[in-house]
Amino acid sequence: MSDTFKTIAKFQYSTEAQIIKGRLESEGIPVFLSDNFTIDTDPLVSNAIGGVKLKVYVEDALKAQHILDTIEKYSVDDEGNAITCANCNSKHVAMFSTITDFKSFFSFVVGFISGTLPFYAKEKYRCETCHTEFDIK
Ligand SMILES: [Zn+2]
Repeated sequence: MSDTFKTIAKFQYSTEAQIIKGRLESEGIPVFLSDNFTIDTDPLVSNAIGGVKLKVYVEDALKAQHILDTIEKYSVDDEGNAITCANCNSKHVAMFSTITDFKSFFSFVVGFISGTLPFYAKEKYRCETCHTEFDIK
């Protein structure tokens, strides 16, 4: 197996990278994160060092990029059906993280460590057509 890596995505915080990592690994693609421990230690340095890098083997890059595009453009449910907007029925729905600043990141980490916060509680969906934000059951 080749030991040459390709960076296919960068994330502000490792929590987001971990979610994508899990998705790619469920497709059988080995994923390697770099700088995630540095940023976990001090999230404020994330911008300075370019964020958490998500890397895969070069031979997996195309497949991984395709999965990544699918995740970013159109979110699907567990059966692979496109998620539709609760407001306007558009299929242009993207998952996003509600962890947008240091304060919410900090409360997320505290909740995560203490076990009071379900891991996916911070994931929401946003319609790119009417900009409605909603949760999925
Ligand atoms: Zn909509």
